[in-house]
This record gives sequence, structure tokens and C-alpha cells, in this order.
Amino acid sequence: MSDSVIKSLPPLPLKPTETCWICQSTKLVEIWQDVIDLKWSPYVAPYNHSTHPACKLARCSSCGFGQPASVPDIEDYYGRMYHREWTPESLENDFQATYRDVIYGDILKRLARLLRKPRRTLLDIGAHTGRFAWLAYENGWAAEGLEINPVTAEFARRRTGLAIHTQRAEELAKHGKRYKAVTLNDVLEHLPEPMSILRSVTEVMEPGGILAIKVPHGPMQRLKEGFRRRILGCDPMADRAGVMSNFVHVNHFSVNSMRLALETVGLEVVSIRSGRCETIPWKQSGVARGLTVRAIDRMAQILPGSVHTPMGMNLQVFATKR
Ligand SMILES: [Zn+2]
Repeated sequence: MSDSVIKSLPPLPLKPTETCWICQSTKLVEIWQDVIDLKWSPYVAPYNHSTHPACKLARCSSCGFGQPASVPDIEDYYGRMYHREWTPESLENDFQATYRDVIYGDILKRLARLLRKPRRTLLDIGAHTGRFAWLAYENGWAAEGLEINPVTAEFARRRTGLAIHTQRAEELAKHGKRYKAVTLNDVLEHLPEPMSILRSVTEVMEPGGILAIKVPHGPMQRLKEGFRRRILGCDPMADRAGVMSNFVHVNHFSVNSMRLALETVGLEVVSIRSGRCETIPWKQSGVARGLTVRAIDRMAQILPGSVHTPMGMNLQVFATKR
């Protein structure tokens, strides 16, 4: 589509969110601005993205949660944004990618400590191509996945031989399914109004079961992005990096708002600590960035209370259902 055609189109319609998705407070203060650049999301077209309207993040003054001040007011925005033409090769490459294995290994190790019995059941929600469920199975878990995208779900099913469900968690619960461990790995930050998914997740947990959540840590991600822009001069338009560009990350949890969200759905927090970082291959990250990320990751794991410092870039949360 030519630039002149794009400029003649209406902008993406937005509607204000008005109340905090976690605590319902109306005390939302705009604290951050990113861009909407729909040329990276062709299935959301046709809207004007040439002027790059602002995509604003608001912080709740009551609980500290961050969410978009406004969200796209069109049907199935997120379904369209995440639509991708998967090929058998791209699915296989995704399954074989090892850069998140350090995170996955850490989660499985900590879950095993918390749930001692053998042949523990595990449901990975947002299983994608099934790598985490597969690693869990390899480590002795009776692992299953939940993936609502039928294409990736079918791949995961075939590739792992495991049960990969395409129903939502509350539908699985209605059919009597219950799991000792439920995992949400880099999923919760993408789903608007996260309380409904958290409520349905609790329904598939066995009493005494554990929910493991890994999400980016909102305040520290903003700090990092501010540093990248102001000190390193990174251009959010050039590298698509941003705290919430195009509404990719819509939930920005702080330690406090994560705790409140879990307690509101009746879970008891076991721990909230610094999560592990992805190990991006050196070729992709470059030596300087690769070393920095690995050093921050290491320090965050060693130092007690690092989750409250800029080293706590990710939250690794464990909560139990009494
Ligand atoms: Zn709030």
C-alpha cells in the first residue's frame, strides 16, 4: 500500500480503559508513551499508521499496575495482530529454539521442589509450539498444553505426542480436568483484562496445586527502555522495541499489583522473585548486549531482594490454591 493511500485512511480507533484492570480504581495516571506502527501488523490494516499515533501507558495510583490508557476499538485486534503465516519450517524452528530453556529449566526445577510427588500433572497455558510442555514431559511431568491457535496447537500435538487442548481453561475445568501445576510463561502480559484468565486458571488447579507465572516486570522494563532511549539513543521506530508498542504488552505488573491480582482470585502467593532472562544467541545480540544481559541475569539470581532493583527485569511468581 502506498504512503499516500495509508495517509488517507482513518487512524486506528481507540477507547479509554477508565478503570484499573486489577483493583478497579479510576486513579490512572499516564506515565509512558509508545507508538502504533501497523506496518508490522499487516492483518490489522487498513488504518492510518503513517503519523504513528501515541499508544499510552497508564499507572494505577492505588495498586501500581500499568495498562494501556486506551485500547483498540476494533473486533479481534489481538487475533489479527498475532496472525502469522506459519510454515512447517518456522514451527519446527520455534520448537527447537533453545533461548528460553534457561527460564523453562528454572521453572521446572522450582515446581518440582514445591510439588514433591512423582508423575505430577502440569498444564502449560499458551503452549505455542509445545517446547515447554515437551521439556516438562522429559523431566517426568504428566504434561499437557493449552493453545487456542489451532495451527500451532496441531503442530505441538504432533511434535510432542502430548495432549494439547484448544479449549479455554474454564471449559477444561467444566470437563473435570485439574492439574497440580499450571504455567503461564510470557503469556499474561499479552492478554487484556487479565483477571478473567487468572480466575479461569484457578478453576483447573487442584487444591494444593501451584500456579507459575513468568512476566516482564513493568516498572523495571520502563526503566530499561527509558535508559535505551535517553542514554543509548535507541529509536523505538527503528527497532520496534518499546514498553507497549502496538499493544503487544498490555499488562505491566509490579510486585504489589501481581500479589493483589493473585489474592483477589483466591490464591496464596508462595514467592515473587526475579525471573531468568532469555539467552539470546550471541550472533543476534552482539557481544556487548549479550554480556550485559547475562551479567544482569546472574546478579539477579544471586542477590536477595533483586526483584526490587533494576536487575529484576522479569517476575517469576509461584502461588498456591489452598
Ligand atoms: Zn489498580
